[in-house]
Amino acid sequence: MSKEIKQKNKTDAVNTKENKSFKNNKNGKTKKNSVKNQKKGNEFKSTKQKNVRSEGKKSVDGKKRQEKKMTKQTKKTNSYQKSSKSSNYSRITPPASNIPVKISFLGGINEVGKNMTCYEYEKSMIVVDCGLAFPESDQLGVDFVIPDFTFVERNKDILKGIIITHGHEDHIGALCYLLKKVNVPVYATLLTAGLIRGKLSEHKLDHEVEINVVKAGDEVNLGDFSVEFIKVNHSIPDAVALAIKCAAGTVIQTGDFKIDTSPIDGGIIDLSRFAELGNEGVLCLLSDSTNAEQPGYSQSESKVGETFRSLFTRAGDRRIIIATFASNIHRVQQIIDIAVQTGRKVALSGRSLENVVAIASELGYVNIPDGTLIGIDEIKKYSDDRLVIVTTGSQGEPMSALSRMASGNHRKVSISFNDCVIISARPIPGNEKTVYRVINDLLRLGADVIYEKMYDVHVSGHACQEELKLMLSLVKPKYFIPVHGEQKHLRYHARIAESVGMDYNNILITDNGYEVSLSNKNMSVSGTVAHGKVYVDGYGVGDVGTRVMKERQHLGQDGIIIITATIDGASGELLSGPEVLSKGFVYVKEAELLMKEAVALSMHVIDSFPPYSYDINAMNNKLKDEISRLMYERTKRSPMILPVLMRV
Ligand SMILES: [Zn+2]
Ligand SMILES: [Zn+2]
Repeated sequence: MSKEIKQKNKTDAVNTKENKSFKNNKNGKTKKNSVKNQKKGNEFKSTKQKNVRSEGKKSVDGKKRQEKKMTKQTKKTNSYQKSSKSSNYSRITPPASNIPVKISFLGGINEVGKNMTCYEYEKSMIVVDCGLAFPESDQLGVDFVIPDFTFVERNKDILKGIIITHGHEDHIGALCYLLKKVNVPVYATLLTAGLIRGKLSEHKLDHEVEINVVKAGDEVNLGDFSVEFIKVNHSIPDAVALAIKCAAGTVIQTGDFKIDTSPIDGGIIDLSRFAELGNEGVLCLLSDSTNAEQPGYSQSESKVGETFRSLFTRAGDRRIIIATFASNIHRVQQIIDIAVQTGRKVALSGRSLENVVAIASELGYVNIPDGTLIGIDEIKKYSDDRLVIVTTGSQGEPMSALSRMASGNHRKVSISFNDCVIISARPIPGNEKTVYRVINDLLRLGADVIYEKMYDVHVSGHACQEELKLMLSLVKPKYFIPVHGEQKHLRYHARIAESVGMDYNNILITDNGYEVSLSNKNMSVSGTVAHGKVYVDGYGVGDVGTRVMKERQHLGQDGIIIITATIDGASGELLSGPEVLSKGFVYVKEAELLMKEAVALSMHVIDSFPPYSYDINAMNNKLKDEISRLMYERTKRSPMILPVLMRV
């Protein structure tokens, strides 16, 4: 069954492929060529790369070309080859089977969020991460967006397990919805597993799902795969990268990562393990592209601690309120440490923050000295200079604790000139407006507000260009697929890979729904798989489809007019009404005349049908058309028209 579908998809893929990512492919020959042609548009300054490119044009066989290049260098000088081993990607090639490993992307490519990747080799499949995305402004009423699981469901007979890299929502947020469809073991580190368990119990799945706790350095066998977990730094503790091994070779998926040489939890990313794997030979690297546009290195989390320390001094005897992401345990730890040193108590505001801190402290990821934490109800017992309130809402989310404080609607915290508010986060693109609204409201209430632009009150959890280069240079993959980011991030990351010496023929910018086949000889898009966005709205999963979304947008933009009338069931004659009601269209009092016209027109339409031989559907449609035309003529607007004809 699944094979059949996939076979069919493969034929479709050829068309989709060229339409989507490879528009510039004029000759449309092979995948490799198409990538090459597309890339020609980009400017590359390094002469070395230019040479590689022209060489590539002459040569037909990519592998032959590489060998040729290597012999050239070896001839030049031995020492040169030795020292520049990594940058030239001369790598030890492990013996590998000819059967390719297939990687299908269900989310996280050309978007930030809903990360989900499937690996398939022979009769085994594993899934890496299962995250959600937050809705865009035109996805009205949607709580969040999850990937389409059809492809995984079709393959559930060969599905061996789900591996999670870390506990952020864009990696675990859709997991419960997947587990309701396919119940397979989950593998995650301790904190990640703790956060997942919290979600499972919300979904009443706690006793149904097997969760295996792993730690960095562990390796688990899953059918034809084995998966090794490697420690990385990120803005949540216990994040890991994965080395996914099968007979086709080793694929490294970094998950979200940065290199923090002075991390809060004492552990630095296991660079030496990446280097070892690189020396053993890595078939492909899938790496985090979120910060590929940012030059240099990301700053260490401990930098934020230094800033906090000076801001605590600056706050003097005022109360301090800090907004941050609930999951940033390291930051919460730093706030607690400084609060203890300066004799302040810490209160938490916001359900997600309380949950995460409870789980993290139970599992030993955050150390809170006794008597430090107080309930939000207790804050009135302490003077302002003895308080720090940590809150959610750093993205200006309308229902969050900080937004409620800013609008004067928080039940326990009212903002005054004696408050010093620190927003310890960067607005996620798209959230700027709401964040600045909150800042303005807080300032209006007299508070001193400090946000990212003013001091280093936030550092990113994602690697910048130099760190990405280092990862590429250590892992020395044969092939490279930038993941986790919008098109611009993926493009930047591809260029970064070229700048450290990767052949652009071995870099692939892919898309959600693509199946990529990888073997030691070749990397190509070999098909497409079912993929898409599933809207979650309250308890409804997927019941809000494109049609409902269009209706919501229509209602939101133009409002609705409802025409009600009672007609004689047999003759079709008007018995009462019609009445015309509008919502979100015009203010009825001001448009009384227009409404009267609509009533008269409706009456006319109903009367125009011959008695005893009327068609209720035709009557409905004619009402819709005529009222719609009238409204457009008078207002140049197209509200939704809903006739409700009752037959008695
Ligand atoms: Zn993350
Ligand atoms: Zn992420």
